[in-house]
Amino acid sequence: MNLTADLLLINAIVLTLDEKLTLFEPGAVAIKGDTIVAIGAEAEVKARVTAPDIIDCQGKVLMPGLVNAHTHVPMTLLRGLADDLRLDVWLLGYMMPVEREFVSPEFVRLGTKLACAELIRSGVTTFNDMYYFESDVAQATAEAGLRAVCGQTVLKFPAPDADSYEESLARAREFIQTWKDHPLIVPAVAPHAPYTCTKEILHACADLAVEFDVPLHIHLAETALEVENSRKEHGIPVIPYIRDHKIFDAKVIAAHCVHVDNGEVRTLKRYNAGVAHNPSSNLKLSSGVAPIIKMLEMGVNVGIGTDGPSSNNDLDMFEEIRLASFLAKGTSGDPTAVSAPIALTMGTRLGAQALHAGKITGSLEVGKRADLILVDITALHNSPRFRHDKNSTYAQLVFAAKSTDVTDVMVNGKWVMRNHQLLTLNEAELLAEATEYAKKIDYFLIKREQSILSKLVAIGGAVQEESFEVQAKVRLADPTTVQTAIEKGGLEILYARHYQEYDTYFRFDDPEQGYLRYREDEYVAPDGEVSNARYRLTLIGPARERQYPSDVMLSRSRYIAPASHSLRFYREYFKPDHEILIEKERKRWRVIFHDTTFYVNLDKVKKPDLGYFLEVKSRTWSRLDGEHKSALVAELITYLGGKPDETVSEDYVRIVEKDKV
Ligand SMILES: [Zn+2]
Repeated sequence: MNLTADLLLINAIVLTLDEKLTLFEPGAVAIKGDTIVAIGAEAEVKARVTAPDIIDCQGKVLMPGLVNAHTHVPMTLLRGLADDLRLDVWLLGYMMPVEREFVSPEFVRLGTKLACAELIRSGVTTFNDMYYFESDVAQATAEAGLRAVCGQTVLKFPAPDADSYEESLARAREFIQTWKDHPLIVPAVAPHAPYTCTKEILHACADLAVEFDVPLHIHLAETALEVENSRKEHGIPVIPYIRDHKIFDAKVIAAHCVHVDNGEVRTLKRYNAGVAHNPSSNLKLSSGVAPIIKMLEMGVNVGIGTDGPSSNNDLDMFEEIRLASFLAKGTSGDPTAVSAPIALTMGTRLGAQALHAGKITGSLEVGKRADLILVDITALHNSPRFRHDKNSTYAQLVFAAKSTDVTDVMVNGKWVMRNHQLLTLNEAELLAEATEYAKKIDYFLIKREQSILSKLVAIGGAVQEESFEVQAKVRLADPTTVQTAIEKGGLEILYARHYQEYDTYFRFDDPEQGYLRYREDEYVAPDGEVSNARYRLTLIGPARERQYPSDVMLSRSRYIAPASHSLRFYREYFKPDHEILIEKERKRWRVIFHDTTFYVNLDKVKKPDLGYFLEVKSRTWSRLDGEHKSALVAELITYLGGKPDETVSEDYVRIVEKDKV
C-alpha cells in the first residue's frame, strides 16, 4: 500500500482507450480529487491503493466519457421545428428567423440544461459547442457539471446577441477573459463559417484565439455548394481560402469537412486542426459523407459530433459512433474500415484531441481528469457475450449498446449521474419549461406562415415600395411602329435598354396574399452580348384599381428584395400553389412626352407565345395627377402605333390566366 485515493472503482471491464487500447478485466480505477491516480488489473490496484470509498461496478464497462465534438446545445429548444428541408431553407428560412425572435440568455440557459441532461444520460462528459450568448451556455454547463469547449459565435450578420460583428467580437473577447482557466469550461471563438464571415472577421477571430491560446471552432466545407461558391468568389476551395486568412494560426476545430480533397486533408493535418465528423447531420441535410478514412490514414484527429439537435435530431453519441463506422464501411466497400475500436476511439480520445483537450480527457490514464462512464452490457439487446476475441467488447459497445445502457457518469471526479439518476439537473422542471417555449415558438410560426409578406420579411432584405401609377398595356400586331415613332424624334429619349427577362410568378390560392415574382434580368448590350444578370424578388400586393376610359390607375404596395438565393430555395420556402413562367424580350425607353416622364416597354412575350405588347406607364402622386397623365397615356399609345381603346388587363399573369380560360 503506497497510494491514498478518494475513490476506488472495482470489478469493471476497464477500457482505457489509450494509444494501445489497454483493457483490464476485471480492472480498477482510483481517483483522487479530479484526477485518475491509478488504473490497472483489479488485484494489482487494490494491492497498492487505499480509499475510503470503494464502489463495485458489478462487471459493467468502465470507460472514458464520450466526447461530442460538434454541437449547438441550446438548439434542443428548436428540435423538430422544421425538418425535411434543404440546408439553406432550413437555416435561413426557419432557424435564423426563429433565433432572431427568441434567443435570449434565458433561452440559452434552458436549452443548454436540457442538452446537458440528454448528454449525461447518453454518456457524454465533454462537448464542443458553438452558439450565441455562449457565456450562458458555459454557466449552465458548469452548473450541470459537464466539461465543454464553448465557442462564442461571430457572424457578418446581426445575431441574436450582437448587432454587428464588432460587437460579437467584443463579446467573444470578454467571454474568453472571464472563463479562461475554469476547471470545466474552455472558452473559444467561433467564426460561424467562411461564407457567413468576411476576411476581416476571419483575421480578427484568428488573432483573438492566438492572443488567449484558445481554440477556434468553425464550420468548414459542409456542402458542395459552399466549395463551388468559394471557387467562384475566391478562386480556391474552402481550406486554402481560410489558410490564406490566418485561421490556421489558431488551434482549429473544424466541423464537417465533407467536401475536402487529399491536399486539403494534408493541410488540416499539417496545422494540427481537429475535425468533427457529423454523420447524422450530414446525411439528414444531404450534405454528403466526409472522407474520414483518408483523414484517419493521414493522422488527422477526427472526432465525432451530433451537430445541433435540430439537424440530427438528438444528441445520442452511441448512435453517432455506430453510424460513423457503418457509413465508412458502406461508402468505401470495405467492411473492415473504421472498426469498432477505431470508432470508439473517435468518440473518445481522438475527439478530445480534436478539441485540443487530449492532455486532460478522452482516455483513462493516470494524470488525466476522471471523466468516465459505466455501461451495462448485459441487456437483452446486447447478449450473450463472447470472450475469444479481445475486440468483442468494443463491438458490443459500438454495434449493440444503446445510450440508455449508460448507468453512471462522472466528470472531473464528480458523479453527475448515479444508477440512471441525474444528480445536477431536474428533468421534470426542464421539460415543463421547454413545453412553454415550444408553445410560444409554434404561435409565432403559425402566424408567420399565414402571410407571404411575413415570410419574406423573415428571410431579410425586403424593402417596401408603395407605388401609384397610371399604366396601360395594349397588344401590338406590328412592333415596328414603336421603333419608327421613337426614331422620328418627337420624343425626348432619356435612355434605351434591352433585356431578356425570365419571370417566375408564385401564385397562392388566397388572392389577398398577392403574388411573388422571381425575376432574372439579363441586360443585352447594343452588340448583342448578354451581361449583368440581375435577380430580384418582388412581392406584388393585390392592386386597387381605378378604371379610366382607356387605362387603369393602380395603387399597390410592392416589397422588393434582392434574390440572393436560388429559385429552388424560394419555391421550397414559399410553397406556392401555382407557378407561371413568363419569358420575354423587353425593349425599354424612358421618355419625356409633353413635359411628362414615361416608361415605354415594348415586350415580345416568348413563353408562352403571346406576341407583342406595348406598355406605357408613369408614376403619379395623386388622383388629379393621375387623371392628367391618363389622357397623355392614351395620346402616347396612339403616337407609338397602338390602339388605346384596346387596353388589356395590367399584368401578364392575368393575361396568361385569362388566355387559359
Ligand atoms: Zn453545426
